[in-house]
Amino acid sequence: MDFSISEEERAIRDTARAFIRNEVMTLESEVLRRERAHEPGLRHDELRELQLKAKAFGFWGLDTPEEYGGMDLPAVTQSLIWTEIGRSFVPFRFGGEADNILFHADEAQRKEFLLPTIAGDRISCFALTEPGAGSDVANIRLRARRDGDDWVLNGEKTFITNGNDADFAIVVAITDPERKVHDGGATAFLVDRSMGWRSEPIQTMGEGGPAALVFSDVRVPSRNILGELGQGFTLGMKWIGKGRYLIPSHALGIAERALGMAIEYANTRETFGKPIGTNQAIQWMIADSETELEAARWLVLRAAWTVDAGLDPRHASSMAKLYGAGMINRVVDRVLQIHGGMGYTRELPIERWYRQVRLLRIFEGTDEMQRLIISRDLLRGYTKLGGHLE
Ligand SMILES: Cc1cc2nc3c(=O)[nH]c(=O)nc-3n(C[C@H](O)[C@H](O)[C@H](O)COP(=O)(O)OP(=O)(O)OC[C@H]3O[C@@H](n4cnc5c(N)ncnc54)[C@H](O)[C@@H]3O)c2cc1C
Repeated sequence: MDFSISEEERAIRDTARAFIRNEVMTLESEVLRRERAHEPGLRHDELRELQLKAKAFGFWGLDTPEEYGGMDLPAVTQSLIWTEIGRSFVPFRFGGEADNILFHADEAQRKEFLLPTIAGDRISCFALTEPGAGSDVANIRLRARRDGDDWVLNGEKTFITNGNDADFAIVVAITDPERKVHDGGATAFLVDRSMGWRSEPIQTMGEGGPAALVFSDVRVPSRNILGELGQGFTLGMKWIGKGRYLIPSHALGIAERALGMAIEYANTRETFGKPIGTNQAIQWMIADSETELEAARWLVLRAAWTVDAGLDPRHASSMAKLYGAGMINRVVDRVLQIHGGMGYTRELPIERWYRQVRLLRIFEGTDEMQRLIISRDLLRGYTKLGGHLE
C-alpha cells in the first residue's frame, strides 16, 4: 500500500502552492476589505490578469485537452491543485477551462462557444435547476418548442452560478414532454444572452451570489443544441459529476488553512495564565478536525483515483462530496469556536468560510441526495461493500 504522491504530482502541487501563496494570498486583505464594502472581492479583469500570470507558470486548463492548449491533468493532480486553491479564500481559479460538457460542441460551436470560453473571452453558466426542480431534476419544466429550424424557450432557471455575468448559458430544457427527462426528454442548448434571456441576482449568505434566469420566447436555432437532441440529462449529470470530487478537494485546502490558524491561535492566546491549547476542550477540537480532514482527504483522493483508473466514480465521488462537505462545516465551526469572539468578527476570514462552506452541503447534490445515491448503490447491489479492493 502506497499513500505517497509521485515526484511529478508533488512538483506540480508545490508550484501551485507557491503561486497561491505569492500571487493570490497577498490579495486577501484587499478582498476582505472590498467584500465588507459589498463590492466583488476580485473583479473579472483582475481574475483574468492573475490567470494569465499563472499561465506563464504553466497553469492553464487543468482539465482541458492538450489540443486546446490545456494541461489535461489526471484527476488526482487536479484534486491536489484544487486543494491548494482552497487554501486562500480569494475567489481565484486557474484559467483555460471550460465546462466539461462544452467539449461535446460541434465544429461551429467550438469556435463560437468553446474556444472563447477557454481563452477567457466569454463566460458560461450551466442552468439546470428550476424553482420547482432542484434535487428532483426529473421535474424540470423549462420548455423548448420546435418552430421550423428554431426552438423557442420558455421558463425559468434558478440559483445559477455565474448567471449574472455569463455571456451564454448551457440550458437543459424539455424538448419531448412525452418522454422522461432521463430517457431522451431533455436537451442541452447553448443560449447567448443576446438571444433574450434575463438574469436577476439572488442574495445569499455567501459572496458573489447566483442568479435566476428568465426565458420568455427566447428563440434558439437548432444548430445551438449541445450534443444530441434528447441528451440533456446525460450531459447535465456529467457536468455535476465533475464537481463531486473537486468540491471536497477545495474543502481540504480550506480545512488545512483554517485548522492551521486554529493551532497557531491555540498556542498563543492565553486565558487564566496559560495558552488555550493546554485545555483538553481545545485539544479535542483540534484532534477531531485533523482526523476528519485526513479521512476526507483519502475519500477525495480515492474518488479522483477512481476517475483516473477509468472506473465508475459515482459512488466514491458521492462519499467524498458527502463527507468532505460535512467535514469542512464541522472544522470551520470548531476553528471559529477556538478563536472565540475574534472568530465571529470580519477582521478574520473565518466567518466568511463559515458562510461559504454551508453551500457545499447543498449545491451539486445535497447531503441527502448523496446519501440516496450511496445507499441505493448498496441496496440494489450496484456497489459492493469493500469498494475496489473486493
Ligand atoms: C449558491 C448556489 C449555486 C448554485 N449553482 C447552480 C448552478 O450553477 N446550476 C444549477 O443548475 N444549479 C445550481 N444550484 C442549485 C443547487 O444544485 C440546488 O439548490 C440543489 O440541487 C438543491 O435543490 P433545491 O434547492 O431545489 O432543494 P430541494 O430539492 O427542494 O430540497 C430541499 C431539501 O429537501 C431534501 N430532499 C429533497 N428530496 C429528498 C428526498 N427524496 N429524500 C430526502 N431529502 C430530500 C434536500 O436534500 C434538501 O435538504 C446552486 C445553488 C446554490 C444555493
